[in-house]
Amino acid sequence: MSVLYQRVAFIGLGLIASSMAHAIRRSGLAAHMTGTARSPETRAIAREIGLVDQVFDTAAEAVAGADLVVLCVPVGAMEAVAREIAPHLAPGATVTDVGSVKQAVIDSVAPHLPADSHFIPGHPLAGTEHSGPRSGFAELFDNRWCILTPPEGCDPAALDRMTKFWRGMGANVDLMDAPHHDLVLAVTSHTPHLIAYTMVGVADDLRRVTDSEVIKYSAAGFRDFTRIAASDPVMWRDVFLTNKDATLEILGRFTEELFALQRAIRQGDGALLHDYFTRTRAIRRGIIDAGQDTDAPDFGRVRKHGAE
Ligand code: NAP
Repeated sequence: MSVLYQRVAFIGLGLIASSMAHAIRRSGLAAHMTGTARSPETRAIAREIGLVDQVFDTAAEAVAGADLVVLCVPVGAMEAVAREIAPHLAPGATVTDVGSVKQAVIDSVAPHLPADSHFIPGHPLAGTEHSGPRSGFAELFDNRWCILTPPEGCDPAALDRMTKFWRGMGANVDLMDAPHHDLVLAVTSHTPHLIAYTMVGVADDLRRVTDSEVIKYSAAGFRDFTRIAASDPVMWRDVFLTNKDATLEILGRFTEELFALQRAIRQGDGALLHDYFTRTRAIRRGIIDAGQDTDAPDFGRVRKHGAE
């Protein structure tokens, strides 16, 4: 694969940035990579493991001369980062991000960027419950989707290069407008995470009553919830604060369905429960047929990735 960007700068060096750095190296997509992170500890680890070619103490130094800048910080931190890098961007640089919510990132980042830069927001639908510069791996994006939400009037050549870049990292690329992205992700990722957090919270309360039984018998379904509920608290706090409307809309629908199932259980309506579970089973089959998961019985434990 050929070099697509001469100098790629990462702001934030966690799971997603480190996975991108490994995937970029694997395919030779960039001639040079720089990066910075907020804490000296993260920067020291990045230097120690040689994550990128140069680790700088400031974002201003990291983005100097970069033709691609990738914002890899929690959604709530994007605005401050955009403000900080804007005066130091190279003329005509492309700026992208990997935030899990898109409209809020566009609203907070775009106003700060110079007119000659190309802003192409993005979201790779791949992740794990792990964080930090050591948690990345080159295969994270293989055969997963990356959604780009280019603004109207986006430069076609810049968009084409960004699309090739994600394909080069192993991903499939789709284009969407930001509100649609936020609604789709509220269904497929954000609300399921909230439900997992809630279920684990309930079990934690119960644990005080039943001692350690919740842990001991966790293999019966609960264990998969705990993996999701172990995801980074800052990242997920920001997701719910910034994708508020779509998440509340889906949660409302979820609550209605839950009440319907609750009533069916109370009334002994086995036919309704059976029909419902038959329909949901078909959705699982569709995900496997689309190559987005395996139907191995231990899914989610042997494999390293999940879609976030
Ligand atoms: P991560 O592993 O926790 O890394 C976050 C990075 O952002 C760290 O380098 C951290 O610096 C830096 N950071 C945190 N707060 C900051 C602040 N207030 N100002 C400046 N820098 C800050 O996170 P990640 O999983 O890579 O997530 C990064 C982005 O990707 C998020 O926007 C998230 O929504 C999105 N995303 C995540 C997943 C996933 O499954 N994890 C999937 C797709 C997209 P220090 O290490 O120095 O604290």
